[in-house]
Amino acid sequence: MVSATERLEEVKADIRSSETVHGRKEGSATLIAVSKTYDADVIRPVLAAGQRMFGENRVQEAMGKWPALREEFDGIELHLIGPLQSNKAREAVATFDVIHTVDRPKIAGALKAEMDRQGRDLPCFVQVNTGEEPQKAGIAPNDVDEFVRHCREDIGLTIVGLMCIPPVEEAPGEHFALLEKIAGRNGLTQLSMGMSADFAIAVGFGATHVRVGSAIFGTRDYG
Ligand SMILES: *Cc1c(COP(=O)(O)O)cnc(C)c1O
Repeated sequence: MVSATERLEEVKADIRSSETVHGRKEGSATLIAVSKTYDADVIRPVLAAGQRMFGENRVQEAMGKWPALREEFDGIELHLIGPLQSNKAREAVATFDVIHTVDRPKIAGALKAEMDRQGRDLPCFVQVNTGEEPQKAGIAPNDVDEFVRHCREDIGLTIVGLMCIPPVEEAPGEHFALLEKIAGRNGLTQLSMGMSADFAIAVGFGATHVRVGSAIFGTRDYG
């Protein structure tokens, strides 16, 4: 059986080759290893192999496993990539280093209040619902400019980029291109896009952060 550390190296090599093919600087696309549903024993070898950026989608789950791993390994950067409730803002700000899912004014305000209280200033991405899917979180493409302005000027959040999850049944390229375009007109340089099935494509469209889970850790079992 292929191990998570072997798959990690394959994913990193695929990212590097996509950077080269698309004329991007080596290392300009960063890998976030998405470790949701996997426990510390599975994550530890990936940390030992040198990976330091990880993504989790649930605050509670991350609180349960990452404090101990942070004591074992230096330099861990934990990214929240899942939906956030405002009553979890306190734990989220204490547990994570980067937030990818700012998607409504209430969350933006709750995060800012907690960051001020805890003396932290976490870089944030605004989640964009590029496919305008009713069941999916994220700001509609036409509303992003005003929401980014609101987060920055009225609330004072540090918005560094945009994040999207394209519709599963569509080719992702047009969604990645749209995200890049909206980011550009808002002066945002970071793009969180691309998962196991399409991270190499996302790198071609300018992704600075790809979020890859199953291609590293294997198929998830939600029990
Ligand atoms: C689970 C998840 C990923 C990783 O998905 P894989 O297909 O396993 O790579 C990326 N982004 C978000 C928001 C996720 O919830």
